[in-house]
Amino acid sequence: MNISLILTKQCNLRCRYCFEMHENVYMTEATALKALDMAVSDGGKQVGVSFFGGEPLLCKPLIYKCVEYSKRFSEIQFSWNMTTNGLLLDDEFLRFAVNEKIEIAMSHDGLMSRVNRLDAGGKECLSALDEKLRLLLQYLPGAFIMATTTPETAGTVYDSLKHLIDVGVKRFNLAVDSRPCAGWDEDSMEELSRQLGMLGDLILEKFCRGEDVYFNPFEEKILSVTKDRPCHVCKLGMRKPYVDWDGKIYPCIQFGGIPEYQMGSVAEGVDVSRREAVYRSSLKSPSFCEDCAMKKRCVNDCACLNFQQCGDMAQVSGEQCAYQRILITRADEMARKMLETDEAHFVKRYIS
Ligand code: SF4
Ligand code: SF4
Repeated sequence: MNISLILTKQCNLRCRYCFEMHENVYMTEATALKALDMAVSDGGKQVGVSFFGGEPLLCKPLIYKCVEYSKRFSEIQFSWNMTTNGLLLDDEFLRFAVNEKIEIAMSHDGLMSRVNRLDAGGKECLSALDEKLRLLLQYLPGAFIMATTTPETAGTVYDSLKHLIDVGVKRFNLAVDSRPCAGWDEDSMEELSRQLGMLGDLILEKFCRGEDVYFNPFEEKILSVTKDRPCHVCKLGMRKPYVDWDGKIYPCIQFGGIPEYQMGSVAEGVDVSRREAVYRSSLKSPSFCEDCAMKKRCVNDCACLNFQQCGDMAQVSGEQCAYQRILITRADEMARKMLETDEAHFVKRYIS
């Protein structure tokens, strides 16, 4: 069983696009350990645990405690990962992460951080984020970096992602601000497309020099063709339930605190029939997707994102549809150029 633990809703940043309310609530040790007991009692030999927030590093002692507690289950193989803004990373924690094989994904918007990532006092924190990013990469050179863009910063996406690559990032992502109030329009989407075209050329340049970097949204679109596999295999709530700070279980983060989506608690375990009902209701997709040629390569079935943007798991927002089309078009452009430039390298990277 895999689980995500929402250790707190609090955060040391106030990103402009954040959907969290930053409540001062924290998971107790008893709740966290009960969640681990629940995952272990599922009967499998492997348990995956994700530490999530808010900012999970505000709860470092609880992370240490969970890993220590897991040692008593010697027959279970635990794997750990964490999503963090990175500002509280230090040598001690990173040594621990390396020793315990905790994968760390850090959110960093590159130069866009100057606009969107503010501390609690309203000050931008690009240089602090850069410093922590460098430290993270010293310990975990393959760490995954997650950027977010907004309509206001779409024109600096290329410079921002290049900044991350220049610092040493090899694997990264880009999400678009998905709050309904974000204000995406045709012009900002067109600009985003232009910026991602430039990014494709930069990745191609690196590819030609044998210095591969991986922009995850392009990778999944290309691999969906070369490996004939789907882009998105979440299975809402079935593979990785979210344990909220208070021990209540939900299918994913956007559903936290909404009673009709609760599917158990760490005290009572997962309510299997409830979980299946929620999953089944996430399988519908809008009629306008039915005949779309891009359907197989589109992440239109992320129920969590759809719920956040449209208030309905089975609806896809205009922004999400536009972003998926941009990604597929720009990924294919890049792939074509790679194939024409160095077929052997392309085959090694995407086919063999
Ligand atoms: S780091 Fe994450 S949780 Fe914290 S304010 Fe930014 S988006 Fe929200
Ligand atoms: S690209 Fe748009 S229409 Fe096509 S499957 Fe995706 S969300 Fe649906």
